[in-house]
Amino acid sequence: MRRYLIAGNWKMNTTRQDGVALAKSLVEGAAAATKKVDVLVCPPFPYLIPVLDAVKDSGIAVGAQNAYFEAPGAFTGEVALDMLVDLGCKSVILGHSERRHVLGETDAIINKKVIATRKKGLQAILCVGELLEERKAEKTEAVLDEQMAGGLKDVTAEMMADVVIAYEPVWAIGTGLTASPEQAESAHAHLRKWLETRYTPDVAKATRILYGGSVKANNAETLLSQANVDGALVGGASLKAADFLPIIEAGV
Ligand code: 13P
Repeated sequence: MRRYLIAGNWKMNTTRQDGVALAKSLVEGAAAATKKVDVLVCPPFPYLIPVLDAVKDSGIAVGAQNAYFEAPGAFTGEVALDMLVDLGCKSVILGHSERRHVLGETDAIINKKVIATRKKGLQAILCVGELLEERKAEKTEAVLDEQMAGGLKDVTAEMMADVVIAYEPVWAIGTGLTASPEQAESAHAHLRKWLETRYTPDVAKATRILYGGSVKANNAETLLSQANVDGALVGGASLKAADFLPIIEAGV
């Protein structure tokens, strides 16, 4: 059985003080839940250390929102995976739509990051998702296929042991427009089928596929009840314990 993963992507938000307070509230509020579901928070880089300290010895893991694929060296402004390992991060979000569409990341770059992340033993959360115009043009599955093929090029079945896919329809991110449970399930089922064809039925069965895009306390349970939805990648509603804790509870 796949264990739910409820992940908070804080994006470029919080202060150090607010981030630490949020992490502490989650440690307290989610202590029981972390026995049943995986809980991950992904703060901005500057707050990784204080947040790691705040969740120490709790069931909550900490991840980064990005990383560079090269070994440490002359790459001004970038953060190496070795540095994340050094700190005790467990996970990295890769190919988020904001990185694809605002920062110009391509499938080829994301692919290098996925491979480098798995080689360092960290969990890679690969985000995929279509734009509104692509959905309207009925290109959703074609876009997902392309992003999966590009992002997972040369990623072996062995490496897939700790790759998580996050389906985040771009039109649902930060808009309050959540995909309907049927839309989410249909995309997730398609992604699982893709994994089965590209890898094996076992890989497809074991890989978690998260939904992201305006997940809130009032829609989390219905989304999580879909057969192929194995967790949530939460943006706005992960910034307050009062909003995020009920989403974690929905996975219990
Ligand atoms: P929102 O939950 O704010 O829509 O963001 C989703 C997201 O992009 C998570 O990575």
